[in-house]
Amino acid sequence: MRKETIDEMWAAGSEGDPFALAAMGIICYEGKHVRRDVEHGIAYLEHAAQSNLLWARDNLYFIKRRLNGNPNLKRNVLISRDAIQQMNTYAQQGNLYALAMIGEYFISQNQDEVLQAKGLEYLNIAVLRGSLWAEDILRDLGITSGVTAKEDPLGDSSLGPRMRSFVERSLKERFGSDMSIWEIQQGIKSACDFFGISYPKMVQDLSDMKCGSTMFCNVDRQSFSDDILCYDLEQLKRLNVRTPDAFTLVMTHECAHRVFQDCNFDGPNNGQWDEEMVADYFMGVRSGMQGIDIRDVIRGFQNSSGSMSHPSGALRVKVMWFGKTHVEELLRRGYRPTLQSLFNDYMEFRSSIDDEVRRAFLDVGFSIVHRK
Ligand SMILES: [Zn+2]
Repeated sequence: MRKETIDEMWAAGSEGDPFALAAMGIICYEGKHVRRDVEHGIAYLEHAAQSNLLWARDNLYFIKRRLNGNPNLKRNVLISRDAIQQMNTYAQQGNLYALAMIGEYFISQNQDEVLQAKGLEYLNIAVLRGSLWAEDILRDLGITSGVTAKEDPLGDSSLGPRMRSFVERSLKERFGSDMSIWEIQQGIKSACDFFGISYPKMVQDLSDMKCGSTMFCNVDRQSFSDDILCYDLEQLKRLNVRTPDAFTLVMTHECAHRVFQDCNFDGPNNGQWDEEMVADYFMGVRSGMQGIDIRDVIRGFQNSSGSMSHPSGALRVKVMWFGKTHVEELLRRGYRPTLQSLFNDYMEFRSSIDDEVRRAFLDVGFSIVHRK
């Protein structure tokens, strides 16, 4: 935990934020980031309990009756349902400490995928609203592999050596390939550069999480500076994405979501399919413009069956392939396409395959009905 985080927590606590007070109490009691101080820890928790904070009350109960001086609160204390419900209410009202706390608690529920996803969402919302503590929690969990936009994400960034070796080790174990953490971050950066947008605020490695997936999330649809980009190497492996070329193309897809985050598309499922297809198109475009090998991605995607949120593989590959061959043709003829002109070309192509898209969407709906 950084010194700024503790300073901020102390400031919020002394202004009477009960969650900040309780967090301070636990930190002092456990002595993990500051010198252990049982007396002050209990005093802060009591203060928070006096504001009727059930979570502080539960912690005090265990400190006094069960723990016998054991400093590990988080691992030993059972939190009551009422306390969780109360925390949830505060979190939904936007208390940053409640968001971070309950987020961490949910994420620790390894057996429950839905709760984990909720926890990650809470922590991310807290980060995007400026919570230093939530940033630290994510980093301590090994989920975040690079905080804040930097020219060279690995240069003198806040990514500590411990974190870096952790990511590298887990990459080796998972991939057994030569792709390094540097190539991962470079893959993300070059995808951002392709569109001329900033490096995301945060990059998250969700490969170890049950709820993990490769996606992009944010709060403000009109800003690039609060975007969080997540990747799940296990999921990508299933999609045949295991080389730097394939990885950076998938990141191009995610960055296209960033570029079009404020656009509403027409088409199946309130435009969701088209959000995906336009992102796939730009994956093909980049492959054609920069000579990046797209064959692995095509092989990985072509057999995916499609869902309400994602088009079927055949359609996705068709769009990618159009993007690639179309831009190659433009370059051959000496055109210098722009993002706008490429987007216009996509829209024209899209209307030419409208029947096919409708049919594919019906097929997906049909197979979902019949699977039941
Ligand atoms: Zn997508």
